[in-house]
Parts: sequence; structure tokens; C-alpha cells
Amino acid sequence: MGDASGFSFYTGKNLGALGDGGAVTTNDEELANTVKVLGNYGSQKKYENIYKGMNSRLDPLQAAILSVKLNHLDEEIEKRRDVANSYLEKIKNDNLILPTVREWNNHVWHLFVIRTKNRDKLQKYLSDKDIHTLIHYPIPPHKQRAYKEWNNDSYAISEQIHEEVLSLPISGVQSPEDTEKIIKVINEF
Ligand SMILES: *Cc1c(COP(=O)(O)O)cnc(C)c1O
Repeated sequence: MGDASGFSFYTGKNLGALGDGGAVTTNDEELANTVKVLGNYGSQKKYENIYKGMNSRLDPLQAAILSVKLNHLDEEIEKRRDVANSYLEKIKNDNLILPTVREWNNHVWHLFVIRTKNRDKLQKYLSDKDIHTLIHYPIPPHKQRAYKEWNNDSYAISEQIHEEVLSLPISGVQSPEDTEKIIKVINEF
């Protein structure tokens, strides 16, 4: 699909480290080398900088942990698919919009994001029943202080999505009982 792909190994990801991490994959040797050099201060030869790089090397300890976890990634994804399929089949609530999976698609479910006009009310309702949810993400990029130059712009669809999204619990360690409980509570909202 492209020249290179970027992967995050942030702790909550399907393949997560115990700290921060990430990787770039490519079948272009020259590009691979450039990425490596950029993540190492832009330096190939010690103390000589050929690019304005950064310190973005994968910590060896994280790499060791990821190497072990990589063997269990398919299993992790299958368990997440089970949770997601239960949500998709059994959540029946007209106030909610569930994610759509096209028939030609195969999703690994890092997050399970639903949408509703009553997002904050739903989050509080779930929290009162000990169901922890998160909002990914509450503030759109153009409304962040870091992007002052865009703060006065209006992107209606993006702003609406940020007000409506809610990420339901999903992970490889979520039991079918927990999933059933979450579905029942949501259906009663
Ligand atoms: C993936 C993720 C991050 C970190 O992403 P990086 O690309 O590794 O910086 C942070 N927060 C959440 C909720 C994420 O899912």
C-alpha cells in the first residue's frame, strides 16, 4: 500500500510494550537505513550528524518483551474479535451507532468506538455500574492550544465526532461474562 508503515507499541495496543515503543517496516533498504539514522540523532557514525534527527530508538528491554509477546499476537487479536463480535451482534440500542465492518475487511480491534448524542450521560451511567470507558479523543487537533493558528477554523464533522465517541472496554483478558454484563447494561441505557 505504501513505501513504509508505522506501528505503535504503546502499552494499550494489541502488541504493546511495557513502556513506549514503535517500529517502521519497509522493504526498501535505503529507506530503512534512513529511518534508523533519523531515530539515532541523525547519526550513522558516532558524533557525526547527517540529518536533524531525534532520539527515538527502541529500548532493548522493550524489544525483548515485544519479541515474546509477538508470539501471542494472533491469539490476542482473536480474543479481541470475540469481544467485538459479541458487541456487534448483541448491542441493541437505537441511541447508539456501532462501528461498521465491511465484508472485504478484517479488523484487529485496538479500540471499539461507538457514537451517541448522549455520550457524557452514557459514560457516567456506565461508570456508575463499574464499567470504565474512555474518549478517544475529547479535543480535535484544530482546537488544541498547540495549533492556535487553526483554533478559529470550523470542521463540523470532526467536532461532532469528538463529542459523540466513546471507547468501550476491549482487551484480550476480558472475560465473556464481563462482555455479556457490559452488553446488558448498555442495552438498558
Ligand atoms: C497509540 C496510542 C498512543 C501513542 O501513540 P504513539 O504513536 O505510540 O505515540 C497514545 N494514546 C493512546 C490512547 C493510543 O491508543
